[in-house]
Amino acid sequence: MQITEKTYDWAYPLTPRSVTTHLVLHHAGASRATAAGIHAYHLSKGWAGIAYHYFVAKDGSVTRGRPENTRGAHTMNWNYCSIGVCFEGNYEAEEMPAAQRDAGRALIEDIRNRYPTIVVCRHCELGQTSCPGRNFPFSQLVASAEPARDAEQDGTPAAWAKSACDAAVARGIFKGDGGDFRWHDPVTREELAVILERAKEN
Ligand SMILES: [Zn+2]
Repeated sequence: MQITEKTYDWAYPLTPRSVTTHLVLHHAGASRATAAGIHAYHLSKGWAGIAYHYFVAKDGSVTRGRPENTRGAHTMNWNYCSIGVCFEGNYEAEEMPAAQRDAGRALIEDIRNRYPTIVVCRHCELGQTSCPGRNFPFSQLVASAEPARDAEQDGTPAAWAKSACDAAVARGIFKGDGGDFRWHDPVTREELAVILERAKEN
């Protein structure tokens, strides 16, 4: 993940943030925007400076705003526990370019790797606003960035199912292909029929 680091002159010191439960997605609301421009605008509002932690431009470049472990100023009542990402553009009216979408997806994935239980949401889900706009491709940004399944979980049954799985193997109901029982795969009707027949026999 390539992030352009930037040095900002903050109007006053930023507050550290120790809780991180939400990742809030915003649009700039303007067709053309830059991290520097947003910083200047937010200073003019009397804030410390740029309110977001990341800025994703239409060309796919990602610029850091506030350090990730500090409090943002992007979502009223949620700044104590959230990371804020701003996307250049007005997605009430425009469609997001592919480069920006890909960069946003990678950034979300990157943040999710660091905070596996973080809830990704749009600003409008947490407050009275249309941000990030009706055309904002939320599901495309989030879907492919689902957290990767735990490597350990892939080969072994979950704790709650372990004894039943062991018993099914011992009875010959499941026969692993080279020890691979594909415990997390769905069962087809064909496989189910075989399982039921084996269960009768054994
Ligand atoms: Zn917003």
